[in-house]
Amino acid sequence: MKDDTKKPMKVILAQPRGFCAGVVRAVEIVERALEKYGPPVYVRHEIVHNKHVVEGLKAKGARFVENLSEIPADAVTIFSAHGVAKSVVDEAAARNLPVLDATCPLVTKVHNQGKRYVAQGRTLILVGHAGHPEVEGTMGQIDGPVHLVQTEKDIDTLEIPTDEPVAYVTQTTLSVDDTRGIIAALQRRFTDITGPETRDICYATQNRQSAVRDLSKLVDVILVVGAKNSSNSNRLREIGSESGIPSYLIADGSELDPDWVKDARVVGITAGASAPDVLVEDVIEALRRLRNVDVSTLDGRQENIEFRLPAELAAVVASPASADPA
Ligand code: SF4
Repeated sequence: MKDDTKKPMKVILAQPRGFCAGVVRAVEIVERALEKYGPPVYVRHEIVHNKHVVEGLKAKGARFVENLSEIPADAVTIFSAHGVAKSVVDEAAARNLPVLDATCPLVTKVHNQGKRYVAQGRTLILVGHAGHPEVEGTMGQIDGPVHLVQTEKDIDTLEIPTDEPVAYVTQTTLSVDDTRGIIAALQRRFTDITGPETRDICYATQNRQSAVRDLSKLVDVILVVGAKNSSNSNRLREIGSESGIPSYLIADGSELDPDWVKDARVVGITAGASAPDVLVEDVIEALRRLRNVDVSTLDGRQENIEFRLPAELAAVVASPASADPA
């Protein structure tokens, strides 16, 4: 029940938060494909890691599968924003499936970088989380062995001579800060090592992490809106906690536990790169049902990055009803 006796709760929204350019592009590819080719269109893996977005697209006729074998002949096939292994690309080509690739261009850039290093004769090390679809895709794009490193400790077990030429690439949803320690340890271990400039790290990941650090200086509690399987959303929650602020990852307002905010004067909200703003609104509404709230947005970096759509979809206009991934 709403408590009107207390002062309004201050709610501060991180800036930037939520959808990044890669997610906007991926969702738009599914929407425009539905518009141009009609339902169903088939998407390999969740197009982005957000149930709300996936359910919204399902309602419009998208079908989500984990294996290409589940896709009928000739059906429009979309690869998710996380990217896919070469074996998946080859399987789709062998079956002549009409493919639209929603792999984020920044993920493709990592694939290309890894391939270039291997072509230069270097052994490749990938810094990332085992089992994440982006990591599986990147490992599967490279001919030859790729050594996965998740923590500094993993470096001790690498069976690579210290004078062998090596190179590293990183999962895009880790940030410069996440990888700094691991990369420094790799540089100590190997005498001939190279890697991308820091500018190659995903801008959206870095910006959202910087914003949650700024937010943590001003608030008593942080709510991160995002899915449990979203790597970058989990990382935002961890950064909040590491900054000493109780931080909770929630999919939407229905998951808000009133106990988390009962004594809070200021609540900070951010959202992972795959969480739409409508879910942030939903969380604010849930707070409003407890107390009066006063919402403001932190000053922060404005993002104006857009990624080009595949040529065959560029001229398609998604209907107003389908423009909202909710
Ligand atoms: S988080 Fe970064 S790499 Fe991932 S989809 Fe968004 S822009 Fe691309």
